[in-house]
Amino acid sequence: MCKCIYCNSEDLSVSDIISYALTGAKLTKKFVCHEHNKFTNDNFEKAAIYNLDFFRNALGLSERKGDNIKYKANLIIDGITIPNISVSGRSSIYEDKKRLFPVEHDGKRVLIGNVDKLKQKKNVSENDIKVLDMKDVVVSITFSIESLFASEEMLKTVAKIAYEWYCYTNEINCFISNTYQDIVDCILMKLPVTEFVEIVVDGNLDYALKDTIYLGSHGLFEYTDINGYKYVIYNFWGIIYYRIRICKETKPNDNLYNCYNLFLYGIDGEKWKTVFGTCGVSHFISMPAQQAIKQFNKVYSLKLEQLVKTTVLSLAKTKELVDDLKNAVNTYKQPLHDFARLVDYENDQRIMTIRLLLFLLEHESDYIFSKGFNENMKTLYQIDDTLTVDVGENKDYLKGLLELHKTDKLLNLIQSGIAFFDKIYTAEKNK
Ligand SMILES: [Zn+2]
Repeated sequence: MCKCIYCNSEDLSVSDIISYALTGAKLTKKFVCHEHNKFTNDNFEKAAIYNLDFFRNALGLSERKGDNIKYKANLIIDGITIPNISVSGRSSIYEDKKRLFPVEHDGKRVLIGNVDKLKQKKNVSENDIKVLDMKDVVVSITFSIESLFASEEMLKTVAKIAYEWYCYTNEINCFISNTYQDIVDCILMKLPVTEFVEIVVDGNLDYALKDTIYLGSHGLFEYTDINGYKYVIYNFWGIIYYRIRICKETKPNDNLYNCYNLFLYGIDGEKWKTVFGTCGVSHFISMPAQQAIKQFNKVYSLKLEQLVKTTVLSLAKTKELVDDLKNAVNTYKQPLHDFARLVDYENDQRIMTIRLLLFLLEHESDYIFSKGFNENMKTLYQIDDTLTVDVGENKDYLKGLLELHKTDKLLNLIQSGIAFFDKIYTAEKNK
């Protein structure tokens, strides 16, 4: 029988240990009371997640009901800036028939939005309406890495995840005040979070796990330090390592060889465990979060950039992208053959999906069904680590697709690609 791991109450609710908003891997347990579930959510978790909305969208995460994640961005259309509006991708801009945005432009107040919607407005005559060039819409967002990863709300969220994960993996089913009073007080905001959560700046750790942890995943392991404390090391999205102090241990760890059980939770929902070892005293160098971000700003911004530009491809993710494409193909089949919607207004993920399908189709005879999807992809793409695709070359590829569209060859090809992928997917599911 569980009790709340913060207060021993028996009025329990299910806790999302790593919020569904941050991973596709479900990790839940009924061991937090209603009050404390609400406390962590309302006081910091919601705010930390909100800050990450743009990147959550880029990772292909979705809202609980499957809706696309919206984020705040500035839009520049035909030289006019519409500041701070809520969008969820390029199609949400092109297909917006409802919203009108009042903005300042050249010292005048103008209204921007769908033409039909504008016409419905009182006092607007057709002569007042100017059609804007939608060819080069720029979506820009601004953020500071410090506010994403070193804010109070993020550090508290990290402490909450680490403590709950630690209780989860160690089957701790109640609040043991002798041992965990401090970390609980930290999460309940009675002690400063900066005393418990720091950012790891240990190059050895980064190096040891660089091929194991990939973008979008969460990786956690616990260890006892030579200083006598037990810590959880938490890698967030393959970008940043946090070190969270959980409790005092009975004695310091003075072993010179150490093995750690690393638990990984992938963006697609897969969970796995791996072991890695270190040689030398058990210690990972960390720094106060704000200071670490200042000092290593470049490293983190490069990783974020990579996260936005690449899509981690696995069978589940590909299936999701192909399903979206199927819907678009149904629209494309209509007599109009709407190319813009087929490529989702030049959405990088969409173009990549088509590219992947046509690539698979081209290599149909090389695909070995007795081997897994990932293994096949590695052989076909001739790579040896996790498959990520750089979307930088999509623009050129798009030109090729447009040619196929004009010569009426595209629909057939994409349908054959989808059929081949369905065959792969079914084979994989039957394994
Ligand atoms: Zn409680």
